[in-house]
Amino acid sequence: MIEFHHKDIQVAATGRGGIETCYILPNFQIAFDTGRSPDMLIDIPRIFLTHGHLDHAAGLPYYISQRSLKHLPPPDIHCPIEIVEPMTQILKLWQKIEGFEYEIRLHGMNPGDEIQLRKDLRVRALASHHRVPCRGYAVLRKSRKLKEEFLKVDGREIKRMKDRGDDIFEDRDIPVFAFSGDTTIEFLADNQAAQQATVLFIECTYIDDKRPVARAREWGHTHLDEIIAHKDLFRNEKIVLTHFSKRYTRRYIHHILAKKIQDKEFLDRIFILAHDD
Ligand SMILES: [Zn+2]
Ligand SMILES: [Zn+2]
Repeated sequence: MIEFHHKDIQVAATGRGGIETCYILPNFQIAFDTGRSPDMLIDIPRIFLTHGHLDHAAGLPYYISQRSLKHLPPPDIHCPIEIVEPMTQILKLWQKIEGFEYEIRLHGMNPGDEIQLRKDLRVRALASHHRVPCRGYAVLRKSRKLKEEFLKVDGREIKRMKDRGDDIFEDRDIPVFAFSGDTTIEFLADNQAAQQATVLFIECTYIDDKRPVARAREWGHTHLDEIIAHKDLFRNEKIVLTHFSKRYTRRYIHHILAKKIQDKEFLDRIFILAHDD
C-alpha cells in the first residue's frame, strides 16, 4: 500500500485501475472501496463503496466474513442504492456456502445523502458518471471560520474583536477529503465539494494518445487531457491522480505529466498514486 498524507489527512492506499482500489483513512475509521480486502481493512468498521466493479468491491464478502470470525461488530457498508439488492443476495449466498451467518448492514446511498460519523464529521455521497451506478464521496468537517465579511480585516483588528467577544466566527463545512470513484470528468463540474476538497482523489485511468479521450469516455473513465482542460476547477491543496491503467509504469506516468502539464503551480499540487508492481 502507498502511504499518503497531507495535514491530518492520512490514507493507506491501493489504486490500480482495473486491478484493485481501496483507500483506508485510519484517523476517521472509514475506508472507500474494499479492493481485494487488504489485511488492515478488517479493523475498519465502516466502508463506502463507490460501485460494484470487482476491482473496487471484490473483497466485500471476505471483509465481512473476517470481521465475523474475529468477533468484531458487523460493519456498516454504504453503497449506491441501486446495488443494495444484488449485493444482499450475493452476501446471503456466501453465508450459505460458508455455513454461518453474519449480520448484513448495507445502506443505499443516493447523491446528496449524508452519514454522520462524529459530531464534527460527516460523509456526503456525490454524483459520479460511470458505466454502472457509481457514487463519489466527500468527507465534510465542521470548522469555526472567520465570517466572509471579516476576511479582509487586518489581523490585529481581528484579535481585538476576538478579545472583545465580537461575533465574527461561524461554523462552516469544509470538505477535507473527496474521492471520485470511477467516472467521466463531469464529476468535477457537478460537485463543488470535490472542487473545494482539501485533498481530492480523482481517477485518471488514461494518459496518452494510444488511449484517447473518446475511449476513456466510452468506458466511463477520465483522461489526463480532460483533467488538464479543467484545471481551473481544481481548487484543492492536493490532487491525487489514481486508478491509472496497468499499461503505464510509474516512470512513464511522471514523464507524461511533466510533458503535458505546463502550469508548474498545478503540477506541484499533483500527487501520482501509482504502483511499481
Ligand atoms: Zn475501477
Ligand atoms: Zn469501474
